[in-house]
Amino acid sequence: MELENLIRDVPDFPSPGIIFKDITPLLSCPRALNTVQEKLADRYTDMNIDKIVGIESRGFIFGAPLARDLGAGFIPARKPGKLPCKTIERSYSLEYGTNKICMHSDAIDSGEKVVVIDDLLATGGTMAATCNLVEQLGGVIVETCTIIELEFLKGRINLESRPFHTLIRY
Ligand code: AMP
Repeated sequence: MELENLIRDVPDFPSPGIIFKDITPLLSCPRALNTVQEKLADRYTDMNIDKIVGIESRGFIFGAPLARDLGAGFIPARKPGKLPCKTIERSYSLEYGTNKICMHSDAIDSGEKVVVIDDLLATGGTMAATCNLVEQLGGVIVETCTIIELEFLKGRINLESRPFHTLIRY
């Protein structure tokens, strides 16, 4: 199954010059969705992963079923103001201005093995900031993972030495 055929390019969304990679055709195709979840589960099974951290919001779609498949816990990394209890947070740079990502401060125990997942790696700022939160709580990043990588943006540099895996590259 060619997953690439189910990723739709939307020019100038959400702002001029951006080509948005729309995954909704993939999500609406039962076989494709199953293929993605199977590939992810196959990769991380037998690695004794304790927690899957999913990045708001499309990381939740893939992260929660993966956690279930692995018998791991699911942790949401969210935008400010969404999590109800005590949080830790990180700012990161965007092309214009900054953004913030937050996690509950009791979400991960020291030494737990973690995979962080999102739909897409662009500049890597969101993923790197999320990894910093996991590491601040003492978690060990086993791998960072996305469905899509925009390779030309060189987001992997932002991830430093943390392992990275993706299913589709542009
Ligand atoms: P970055 O922090 O630059 O790696 O951006 C990654 C985050 O922004 C992910 O949560 C993506 O869902 C979203 N994102 C960035 N660029 C795109 C794009 N071209 N198409 C779809 N989502 C994007």
